Amino acid sequence: MSNIYIIATPIGNLEDITLRALRVMKEVDLILCEDTRHTKRLLNRYEIKAETMSYHQHSKIAKIDKIVELIEIGKNLALVSDAGTPGISDPGNMLIKYLVENKINIKIIPIPGPSAVISALSISGFPTDNFLFLGFAPHKKGRQTFFKNIATEKRTVVFYESPHRISKALNSMQEFFPEKEIVVCRELTKIFETIYRGKAEEIKKILTADNQVKGEFVIVIH
Ligand code: SAM
Repeated sequence: MSNIYIIATPIGNLEDITLRALRVMKEVDLILCEDTRHTKRLLNRYEIKAETMSYHQHSKIAKIDKIVELIEIGKNLALVSDAGTPGISDPGNMLIKYLVENKINIKIIPIPGPSAVISALSISGFPTDNFLFLGFAPHKKGRQTFFKNIATEKRTVVFYESPHRISKALNSMQEFFPEKEIVVCRELTKIFETIYRGKAEEIKKILTADNQVKGEFVIVIH
């Protein structure tokens, strides 16, 4: 039976990769990447000369057929996304769903490592024994309800937000839960990593004053 390794890769800092991940990436026959050019940076850094193939959310069924063919002839595969743990708010889970639902004879093996949601929670100082991860905040439809529901949530809440909407998100948080303590994590593990702590209004002031409404963001709410 062949294996597919679901490998967590860095969310910014290329040193955040496990020894096991490096070994497995060297050993597999093919690495399925959300973006091959992005993954090549990691592979080059560690001098891994693996074969790669793109697999992303717009991949057609023909791509899945090709992957299944490779599995049937006993190839060992790895799946990586652009950042963090595949399947956590990125395309990885669609392939795994397909493999499971179609009873494809392959062992699915996780290689754990970084994930933006866990990194943000780990430095939040908020209760983490019971938290709610909401993925990306909706762009339009359901956005108001999204923030309204967080207002009454007892658990620590974490979500991802794009730089284009971070100011809007802070406005909504100020509107729906002005008293809640928030941690905004920007560019985790990267050169411009910044952690903002406080109420929505306070964070918004600092972010806009510093002109820091760019980069990648995770938001944690007490
Ligand atoms: N699979 C990834 C994981 O395990 O973290 C998440 C993929 S999702 C498509 C990308 C989002 O994760 C970004 O828009 C951002 O909200 C968050 N993210 C990823 N890397 C980050 C970083 N270095 N700092 C802050 N947020 C990050």
